[in-house]
Amino acid sequence: MSEKLELTGMVLSAVPVGEYDKRIVLLTKERGKISGFAKGARRQNSPLMAAAKPFSFGIFECYEGRSSYNIYQAQISNYFEKLSLDFEGAYYGMYFLEFADYYARENSDEKELLKLLYASLRALENPHLPKKLVRYVFELKTMVINGEYPEVFCCTACGSTEQLRGYSHAGNGMVCAECMREARAEPLLESTVFTMQYVVATPVEKLYTFTVSEEVLAEFARIQDRFRKTYVDRKFKTLEILESLQI
Ligand SMILES: [Zn+2]
Repeated sequence: MSEKLELTGMVLSAVPVGEYDKRIVLLTKERGKISGFAKGARRQNSPLMAAAKPFSFGIFECYEGRSSYNIYQAQISNYFEKLSLDFEGAYYGMYFLEFADYYARENSDEKELLKLLYASLRALENPHLPKKLVRYVFELKTMVINGEYPEVFCCTACGSTEQLRGYSHAGNGMVCAECMREARAEPLLESTVFTMQYVVATPVEKLYTFTVSEEVLAEFARIQDRFRKTYVDRKFKTLEILESLQI
């Protein structure tokens, strides 16, 4: 007899299996990323029909099998319906799920990543926050949680914490006014430096409490895009769609 479990998490992806079932990938608080089988999830009257869809967040009741989990019931507390009704939000959201899926590991502690994903989807639903900003904050913070991110608090050439004025792609981090020319750094606005420092240092709960100017967002996006391309060896299908839509 396998163990009965209650796991709190979010559906990252769902694919149909056979005629009536689904295989889903869940990001859970207790077990990290897991793969689960939702029997009958495509039947009209199945209690899992609404639950076994991307974005569904809640408690999933399951049995632990040998190589996978069998999900038999779920209590969903947030379906993120607003996102699915908003074309732009839905594409951003799908990208967030794919990005989180890339970083999440099985049986590892992914509580912070789950918390970040939840907060970031909520931020996408907030009409006062530019979605593009939410995207870059989410990307950078995911990389921070994973432990590989740019040095934003001191000069990567001399170690000074004062007058950080540029970014060196070769050094993967900030450069001070003194070292700018030698480090061949890209000049940055002070607000861009501060924005990146804020994202790295601030707890997830307080992350989505600011907006920035177009100019700052463009600089932040340029640095983060290049950093991601250097450190992430996967092409994200959802990102290609997002970029082709130019939203
Ligand atoms: Zn320096």
